Amino acid sequence: MDEEGELFLQGLLAHRLILPSGVPGVFGRGAVFEDVLERFNALAGATAAPQVPELTCFPPVIDRTLLERVGYLGSFPNLCGCVQSFFGDERAARRLSDRVHAGEPYEDLLGATSVVLNPSACYPVYPTLSGTLPAGGRLITATNWVYRHEPSREPTRMQSYRVREFVRAGRPDEVMAWRDDWLERGTALLRGLGLPIRVDVASDPFFGRAGRFLAASQQEQKLKYELLVPVISAERPTAVGSFNVHHDKFGAMFDIRSDDGEVAHTACIGYGLERVTMALFRTHGFETGDWPTDVRARLWP
Ligand code: ZN
Repeated sequence: MDEEGELFLQGLLAHRLILPSGVPGVFGRGAVFEDVLERFNALAGATAAPQVPELTCFPPVIDRTLLERVGYLGSFPNLCGCVQSFFGDERAARRLSDRVHAGEPYEDLLGATSVVLNPSACYPVYPTLSGTLPAGGRLITATNWVYRHEPSREPTRMQSYRVREFVRAGRPDEVMAWRDDWLERGTALLRGLGLPIRVDVASDPFFGRAGRFLAASQQEQKLKYELLVPVISAERPTAVGSFNVHHDKFGAMFDIRSDDGEVAHTACIGYGLERVTMALFRTHGFETGDWPTDVRARLWP
C-alpha cells in the first residue's frame, strides 16, 4: 500500500471509524462509520422507487453444494472460505486440545461442514427463484455479509463486508432494460452524494490462465460494469458498485422460467457498503459535521 493509502488507513483508525482486530482485512466498525453505512443503505433502498423489491435476508453462510453448483471453486478457489469443525471422539478431542496448547498445527483433525462463507450477496437468492416467475418477473433485494479470502492492510480490501444487492429475474428484454436503467440510477445516487464516480466495463478476478480468458470474454460482452471512485489512490480508483448481467446462466442452473415458459434471464447490482462509506469519508473528510450541506441533507434528512 502506498503512502496515500497508509494515510487514509491511519485517519480511519485515529477517528475510530474502524477498529483493528489484528487480522488484515478484518476490523470492527465504529458508531459513526456504521451510522453513515446504514443511512447510505437506506438511500440505496429508496432509489428503487417506484419499484418495490421483495426484501430477503440470508446468513453469512450458505449451502456448500451451492458454491459447487455455481462453479465458484473452479473460478475463484483462492477466494473461498469453507467452514470446518471437529467430528472426532473424546480421545481425538484431547489430541486436538493438546496440539492447540502446544502451538502445533491441528488442521488435519478438522473436517468440512456442509456450509461455506457466502462469497457473493446474490448467490443464495437464485435457488429461491426456481419455478415460473410471475408476469413482469421478480425483483429481490438483500443486504448480506460476504467473504473473500484476500487479507490486506489496504482498508478497502476486506475479508468480510456487506453488499446491498438487487437481483432482477425475468424476460431478457425486461432484465436488460432494468440493468441499464439502474446503471443511471446507481450513478446518480452516488454523484448526488458528491462522489466523483466513473463508470467502466470490468471483469471478475477469475483464477489462473483459464481465468484470464474468462475475464476477457466477460469484458468483451460488457457483462459487468463497475462504479469507480478514488479512495486509497487517484490513479487506481476503487470499485464501490457493480452491475452484472448473467443472461440465462442462473435461469438454466436453477430452472427459473419467465411467464412465457422460456428460461429466465437474471441481472444483479450490488453496492459494497463499507467501500461506499469509505469513499464518503475520503471525499468529504473524517468529520461528518464538516461534510457539504447538500450531502448531509441527503444522508440525515
Ligand atoms: Zn450479484
